[in-house]
Amino acid sequence: ETFDTMNLHENLLRGIYAYGFEKPSAIQQRGIVPFAKGLDVIQQAQSGTGKTATFCAGILQSLNYELEECQALVLAPTRELAQQIEKVMRALGDYLQVKCHACVGGTSVREDQRILQAGVHVVVGTPGRVYDMLRRRALKPDSIKIFSLDEADEMLSRGFKDQIYDIFQLLPPKLQVGVFSATMPPEALEITRKFMTKPVRILV
Ligand code: AMP
Repeated sequence: ETFDTMNLHENLLRGIYAYGFEKPSAIQQRGIVPFAKGLDVIQQAQSGTGKTATFCAGILQSLNYELEECQALVLAPTRELAQQIEKVMRALGDYLQVKCHACVGGTSVREDQRILQAGVHVVVGTPGRVYDMLRRRALKPDSIKIFSLDEADEMLSRGFKDQIYDIFQLLPPKLQVGVFSATMPPEALEITRKFMTKPVRILV
């Protein structure tokens, strides 16, 4: 399998190749197409296997670029990881003119509010700041269709369970969910049971 045979938008393919990827990794071969199709996906894989590009490509393929509303939300356990994912999203979506923003603690709340109100397609962030933005209505949940949890096990072990559940409560009920995690502890399985519909399981 190649990126060419995944039926991706031409400008997404251009972004992928321009970023320097030539061939999809094993997890990308199995995960991009189902996630891009709108299915709930659980990917159990170590970091380093290419999972970031899997959910970024799936999200970038699904966005309506004519709407400047947040349609996809990605959570990550640390500020650094959230910022790194946002950079990958931006790079792969360069030819699609995707608008992304990283919402993480330790940065200006006002600046986040300003950027979100100006309009973005994707928000990547840590649970605390994202919940704060939702609560302030700077981030409007109504248009969010995809919710992706990266390093779910790590987020749970850092004590973000309640905040993740609070965020789920604010998001629309009809939601595509992706869970990406190296391990599947009971709390992660509970999330998949509570919030996912017939998830596709991919183990690499
Ligand atoms: P990740 O598991 O998403 O953190 O990715 C691990 C590393 O592999 C990152 O440096 C990516 O840029 C790189 N990578 C991911 N997918 C590919 C690919 N298809 N071709 C080459 N490098 C890749």
